[in-house]
Amino acid sequence: MKVCYPGTFDPVTKGHMDIIRRAAETFGEVVVLIMHNPRKKCLFSEQERKAMLERCFEAEGLENVTVEVGSGLTVKYAESLGARGIIRGIRAISDYEYELQQATANMMISDRVETILLIAKPEYSFLSSSVVKEIIINGGDASAMMPDAIVSEVTAKLSGADTI
Ligand code: ADP
Repeated sequence: MKVCYPGTFDPVTKGHMDIIRRAAETFGEVVVLIMHNPRKKCLFSEQERKAMLERCFEAEGLENVTVEVGSGLTVKYAESLGARGIIRGIRAISDYEYELQQATANMMISDRVETILLIAKPEYSFLSSSVVKEIIINGGDASAMMPDAIVSEVTAKLSGADTI
């Protein structure tokens, strides 16, 4: 079964990678979706984020996982790819409240795509792209929180930056 995993991935973390690996093992085929959102300010361009994700999949030997940059409504985009599910990760109740609203709205738009919520592993439940960026900007070491394949690129981009 093909599923989509939409998100911002600015940048991808070990928490995202764990969700991707589990989704691929459970459902077979995963399309990671970077949805174009001009209102969201990101550190990395869509193409940079796509290239970093692809490097991580290759490094980790994930074969049935691809990345696309899409625009418009996520659920419609997922439908156009022939995906039957939208994967989202839940770290805390605050994630759940947001995802419940999104999933309910998506039900109004499509009855072919189910939202599937995967619970974060405890070791990643604190982890977000923002946490990674904050740590590096403040001189800390976030290398254990990202896939090895992107550590140098993310660190280089943020070194010297005083804002994200
Ligand atoms: P978005 O802007 O769509 O929330 P993110 O890249 O921040 O994009 O997250 C994409 C998805 O991955 C969301 O469902 C989010 O809850 C989930 N996620 C983010 N970090 C983690 C993590 N550490 N463990 C599990 N799921 C996560």
